[in-house]
Amino acid sequence: MGKVGQFFSFFGGFRLTLAHMTRPRVTVSYPDEKKAKQPRNHGRHVLNRYEDGMEKCIGCELCAGVCPADCIYVRGLDNPPDHPVSPGERYGYVYEINYLRCIHCDMCVEACPTEAITESKLFEFSFTNRADAIYTKAELLVDDDGRPKTLPWEDWRKGDDLYTSGWMRATSPSGSAAYEGEVQWSGELGYGVRAPEGGQSGRRDDAATGSKPLRQLLEPHLLDQDIPFENRGMRGRAARARESADKNRAKMRAKRQDRKRAKALKMGLPVDAPPSPFDDPAPDDEAGSDEAEAS
Ligand code: SF4
Ligand code: SF4
Repeated sequence: MGKVGQFFSFFGGFRLTLAHMTRPRVTVSYPDEKKAKQPRNHGRHVLNRYEDGMEKCIGCELCAGVCPADCIYVRGLDNPPDHPVSPGERYGYVYEINYLRCIHCDMCVEACPTEAITESKLFEFSFTNRADAIYTKAELLVDDDGRPKTLPWEDWRKGDDLYTSGWMRATSPSGSAAYEGEVQWSGELGYGVRAPEGGQSGRRDDAATGSKPLRQLLEPHLLDQDIPFENRGMRGRAARARESADKNRAKMRAKRQDRKRAKALKMGLPVDAPPSPFDDPAPDDEAGSDEAEAS
C-alpha cells in the first residue's frame, strides 16, 4: 500500500460508524417506553378459568411434581357439590408459586392437563420482602374479565396480558409437525378459544397470536438488501418517522392527562380513576386539548 493509500485507510475505520448514523435508532427510553414482547415469552404465571368462570385447576399437583425448582405448592380439595369451583372432582384449594425460586422454564405449563397454569408476558416485577415473592392463588387467578390481577409491585403495560398461554399454543402435541396449528386446548374466560401459533407452517395467524416474523423485529439491524422492499430507503424512513411521531403524541397526551389530574386533585375537584394498564389509549384529540390547554 502506498503512502496515500495508508493515509486514507485511516478513514476506513469510520465507515461502520457512518453507516450506522443513517440507520434507525434501536434503543428506547426503558422503562418509560417498552418494546412489545414475543408471544412465547415466559413471564409471571396466571391461573386460568373457563369461559363460564369456573377454575381450570383440578388440584392434581402435576405442576408441583414436575417443577425443577420445587417452587409450586398445591393442595387439592373435593368440590363442594352445591357450588363447585372447577368442573372436575377436585379443585386447587391452595396454590402458591415462590418467585424467589422460579426459573420460568414453563415445565409446569407443559405438565398441566387442563391448561390451568400458563404464563403472561410480564417479567417486570420485583419485591422487597419474601411474602410478596410468594404468589398466592388469589393473586394468580385471573379476574372476572379473564385478566391477570395487577399487583402494586408489577409494571403491567398494554399487551402484557394479551398472549397469555402463548408457549402452550406454540407446542404441538408430541412435538409432531403433523399436529402443528391444531387447537388442542379449551377456551379461556374473556378470550374464548385462542388461536394456535402456526410457527413454520403455512397456517400461522400473526394477527390472532401476536407473533411477528423475526425479520420484522430485527429490521433496524439488517442491511438494506435484507429488508422487505416496501420498508427500504426513504419509504421505510417515512413510515418509521410517522410511527415515532404517533408514539410521541401518545406520550404527550398521557403527560397532559397526568398534569390535569394533579391540578384537579390540588383544587379538590373530582378526578377520573387513572387508566388501567390494559386500556386502549384515548382517541387522538390533541388538537382540541391543545387549544383547551392554551386557553
Ligand atoms: S416455570 Fe419452571 S420453575 Fe417456574 S414454577 Fe413452572 S416449572 Fe417451576
Ligand atoms: S395447575 Fe394444572 S397441573 Fe397444577 S394442580 Fe392445577 S390442574 Fe394440576
